Amino acid sequence: MFDNLSDKLDKAFHILKGHGKITEVNVADTLKEVRRALLDADVNFKIAKDFTSRVKDKAIGQDVLTTLQPGQLMVKLVKDELTELMGGDAAGVNLSGNPSVILMSGLQGSGKTTFSGKLANFLKTKKGKKPLLVACDIYRPAAINQLHVVGDQIGVEVYSEPENKNAVSIAENAIKHAKANGFNVVIVDTAGRLAVDEEMMTEIANVHKAIQPQETLFVVDSMTGQDAVNTAKAFNDRLNFDGVVLTKLDGDTRGGAAISIKSVVNKPIKFIGTGEKMEAIDVFYPARMAERILGMGDVVSLVERAQEQYDEEEARKLQKKIAKNEFGFDDFLTQIQQVKKMGNMKDLVGMIPGAGKALKDVEIEDDAFKHIEAIIHSMTPAERTKPALLDAKRKIRIAKGSGTDIQQVNQLLKQFDQMSKMMKMMQGAGGKNLMRMMGG
Ligand code: GDP
Repeated sequence: MFDNLSDKLDKAFHILKGHGKITEVNVADTLKEVRRALLDADVNFKIAKDFTSRVKDKAIGQDVLTTLQPGQLMVKLVKDELTELMGGDAAGVNLSGNPSVILMSGLQGSGKTTFSGKLANFLKTKKGKKPLLVACDIYRPAAINQLHVVGDQIGVEVYSEPENKNAVSIAENAIKHAKANGFNVVIVDTAGRLAVDEEMMTEIANVHKAIQPQETLFVVDSMTGQDAVNTAKAFNDRLNFDGVVLTKLDGDTRGGAAISIKSVVNKPIKFIGTGEKMEAIDVFYPARMAERILGMGDVVSLVERAQEQYDEEEARKLQKKIAKNEFGFDDFLTQIQQVKKMGNMKDLVGMIPGAGKALKDVEIEDDAFKHIEAIIHSMTPAERTKPALLDAKRKIRIAKGSGTDIQQVNQLLKQFDQMSKMMKMMQGAGGKNLMRMMGG
């Protein structure tokens, strides 16, 4: 996420390294580079200019803070300013109605339908809600089908009326249906066009007026940079929406949309989409995002993801096994699966402070455990519980079966051995903590 921008900002701060004091000259040099970095990331010119002038005002006269290195101080000022620019405190969604109605808006291809599904899944699994998805695209039958596919995937009902060509009446009927059937959230996915056009705007404005949603979200593809900001403006003029959803942040986005959008429409970014899967949704926290952009990682989110996967019962079972020396490859596999559920590797590594930068040229496979899993799957159940059985002949068979080579098999056995020893050791010294670390 935002690798290029992070890189350039890092270089800008290097100018201040080695200086004992912040002076107008080195501040100006640094800020020139910061501004260039923002412009390269497709941040609007005026926003970038205002940004650096605010940081400059704060920086000059801060030389009283002799305890801090100027480089660090500057990073902090930029971080605070970025946080402010992206929205200050995190903003939640309004779920006050019964049902709470959420209207989705945005261009075709922005990720609206995918996000509708993600949000329904999020509200169902994390907030205990009973959502209803509504297909309001009256132009593309494929869009209705797509929402049904999404709904099936997450076990959420989808309301549609393929024959009805009036979006307002579909939305109204859906809300009636929700009231009669105990749904407490209604998520209305609307039609999008490839570009802003009057007909689409009028239609969504009519739906908006008729159903009076508690929350109107505008979905935008973050890869579109400044265009995203212009589209946001057009939608906001008509709908006065409540919040923004930035999708495709897992891609090679430059960051311009994330940084500019709030100050242009004065509406907070509420969620981000970080992948095609239904789980790839995150609440947007401006401060955490600022830290990520500045290469400080995002430990809070990392720990939260780990906690979500932590299963008390499983952890206890595992602990018993370790105590009895029964930890085997099947357990190892379970652990890997838990880590995988936390998200894709690249994303996770990006949350570790410093790691994103250190590993930026290292190709991280999405499925970094592929070989390990293949090797374990090629073992017999007996071998998995008793790795000592693995002699040379068996290792050759496993390497063949898993499409790996004998070195990779040996390497895994070695790692497994080291891990078992370490777990045994930690078991003595309060193994619970280790289990938390491992299992989440
Ligand atoms: P809609 O036309 O606005 O409803 O857009 P869709 O939901 O159909 O999404 C368009 C494409 O973007 C699909 O191929 C989605 O799988 C993909 N997509 C949506 N959100 C994300 C995301 O957060 N990350 C990535 N990588 N792809 C996404």
